[in-house]
Amino acid sequence: MEEQTALSPYSAEAIRQFKEEREGGRKKRVREVCACGHSMNYHTEMIDGSIMCKPAQIPCNCKKAVPVLEAENLRLFLHSTNGVGNLHALGRGIVSSLTRGVSFRWLNGGLCQSCGAEESELWPISLNDQAKPLEKSGPINVVVCQGCYVEKFLPRS
Ligand SMILES: [Zn+2]
Ligand SMILES: [Zn+2]
Ligand SMILES: [Zn+2]
Repeated sequence: MEEQTALSPYSAEAIRQFKEEREGGRKKRVREVCACGHSMNYHTEMIDGSIMCKPAQIPCNCKKAVPVLEAENLRLFLHSTNGVGNLHALGRGIVSSLTRGVSFRWLNGGLCQSCGAEESELWPISLNDQAKPLEKSGPINVVVCQGCYVEKFLPRS
């Protein structure tokens, strides 16, 4: 294992390293969209380690930043969540991209986050802490296949 040299947090060297890491990280994630439907750039890690997603004017309760796709135009991914699928912020961003002929690609090749199956009909779903689907923005967001949606996440009365 490589040993790391401890540095004073205020040394010029430490600040340079920190800046490099941040910039490197930024560049890599610049076009990535989280499962909540918003750019990874809107996600901030709080001092206690929790995540906050704050896209301009849009309420989002995302607490788990998970990049799921890469978008050509991030401005088309600025929606709110009012349900699952095309009513979810991510689904609405996808629809916006498709109708404008703007490309995007799934980062994991479009695999279901629940069973791993390759699926063309993916469903973005917002969940509460108990993994129950919500009609609004929730702390957890997943993208699952049609089968998993029906079997595991379809709201039952
Ligand atoms: Zn998010
Ligand atoms: Zn969000
Ligand atoms: Zn599945």
